[in-house]
This record gives sequence, C-alpha cells and structure tokens, in this order.
Amino acid sequence: MTLLGAIEAGGTKFICAVGHANGEIKERISIPTTTPEETMPDVLAFFQKHQVEAIGIGSFGPIDVDKKSKTYGNITTTPKLPWKDYPLLEEVRKTFSIPVGFNTDVNAAALGEAILGAAKGLDSCLYITIGTGIGAGAYIQGELLQGLTHPEMGHILVRRHPQDTYKGRCPYHGDCLEGLASGPAIEARWGTSAKNLSDKEEVWDMEGYYIAQALMQYILILSPKKIILGGGVMNQSQVFTSIHKYLGDFLNGYLVFPELSSEMEDYIVKPGLGDHAGITGALLLAERALDESKKYMMK
Ligand code: ADP
Ligand code: ZN
Repeated sequence: MTLLGAIEAGGTKFICAVGHANGEIKERISIPTTTPEETMPDVLAFFQKHQVEAIGIGSFGPIDVDKKSKTYGNITTTPKLPWKDYPLLEEVRKTFSIPVGFNTDVNAAALGEAILGAAKGLDSCLYITIGTGIGAGAYIQGELLQGLTHPEMGHILVRRHPQDTYKGRCPYHGDCLEGLASGPAIEARWGTSAKNLSDKEEVWDMEGYYIAQALMQYILILSPKKIILGGGVMNQSQVFTSIHKYLGDFLNGYLVFPELSSEMEDYIVKPGLGDHAGITGALLLAERALDESKKYMMK
C-alpha cells in the first residue's frame, strides 16, 4: 500500500504522520510551532526517515491556495508574525521532489470526515472548529470549496445576544463570530478559561446562540448534508443542546427536513475521527496530489 505523508500545521503544534489513504497512521509526531527556523527542520527530518510517495499539508491560515498565484502555498496574513508570508509549501517541495497537496487545516478535516469519518458516504459536509479561533472547511459535491480563496466562515457577522456586553476580540472585526464565540472570547467575557465554566448554564446558552446563527447561514447558503463541530470548546457537550434549540428557533420551520428537526442530533455531530480529522484529511490530500500528478503524467 502506498505510504503517504501528512502535516497538520497548527498555531501551537505541527503534527506530522505517515500512513495510508485508508486512514491508518503508522507513525506520528508533534512538534511545537515556534518559528519556521526552529520548527521546519524537525518537520522535514521526520519525513526524511520515511519513503513517502506524496505529502499532504493542512495548514492554519489564511493561506494562498490559488495554484496560479506566485505565492501559492504561502501562509499569508497570520498574526503569528514569524510565519507571516512564509512559503510553507515551497519549503517542503525544496526537500522532497514528490507531489505535495496543500489546503487549510479545516478543509483537510472536512475531507477526512467526508471520506472516513462522520460524513462517510455523503457528498457534502462542513467541518467547523471552535477553538483558539473559529474556522470551517466545506466539502461540497465531492470537492473542497475554493473560489477567490478558501472560505473564512469564522469571521461572519452575527446578531448580538441581548445580554452580551462583551465587545469582542477579533483584531479585524471586533464582534464577528470568532470575536464573540472562540475559546479566548469566552475566557475574556467570563473572566476564566472556558474549561472552568462547565456548570455555568448562561455561558453555553450564549455560545449556542452564536454558533446556531452561524450554522443557519451556512445551511442556507451551502446546504451541507452533515455538520461536524470540533475544537476545544466543543468538548462542552452542553453546547450541542443549546445549538439545537436555537437553530430550531431561528429556522422557525422554514426548511422542513428531519435533519433540521427530529434528527438534528444526527445532523450536527462531533467528529467521527475525533482528534484525527485534520491529520487523516492531510493523508487524503497527499493521495489526491499523487492521483493528480499521475493523471498529469499520462497526458
Ligand atoms: P487550537 O484551536 O489552538 O488548535 P483547541 O481546539 O484545543 O486548539 O482550542 C483551544 C481553545 O479551546 C482554548 O481557548 C481553550 O480554552 C478551549 N478549550 C479547550 N478545552 C476545553 C474544554 N474542555 N472546555 C471548554 N473549552 C476548552
Ligand atoms: Zn473577525
């Protein structure tokens, strides 16, 4: 079976793995994200030990995903300054002359969940992470959604909760979804880490109010067949209850589908691959890059 490499490039750690397109992971390591000068040699050294035929990268962003662009494969306007404009894809390609797939961490996770996880067998799903930031990947009609660039669904505007006086913390938009509902926003609003707020009902009611609005927009625009919610904040299972309640209220019977009423618990779910959605998706990005290069060679 073809051995593939996978990189899940995150803001706090890079996870590197080798494995197969069926999701089987042979070896995996985690490297702290500090500066490219420190982090990248360890990443590259890991793959030098293995005979992989292609590598897939799912990266934190924003990134340049336009294959025609001069800066394709770069991390672009990240607030993590050492990584701003860093040519991540080029750096990997310089060392390995094999096909390399490149997409966002959340698009990779959406792909993983669509092929091998909670949305297996479906031709569409959304993967949304609610963690340090909020981001979403979309797998629509069998393709990862991309236009001018990749989706940036964490930064949509939402209606404020009537009791919320917190100003929001997005450096670009203040009170966009990420500014109001990310883990650090919860911490700033309530004065302690989200992890310590399990028994505070009002916290999770408000969180559900914001996430449900976002899901309503995503459903109305993209019509995904499954919605998968991951990230640290979603460890608070009670948010699901709040999301289900508010989403039902907001949609108000406009769309009549069991997924949006009696079967909502099977429609909005936790990742089927648990914490492995991103790295599994990166293996699948590697597989896709390999397939594409084979098609190209045959032409
Ligand atoms: P990242 O987004 O950096 O990849 P995570 O998805 O783990 O990492 O998100 C980190 C955020 O999630 C932090 O703001 C943290 O407070 C929050 N978080 C982590 N675990 C929990 C938990 N069990 N309950 C609530 N919030 C959590
Ligand atoms: Zn924003």
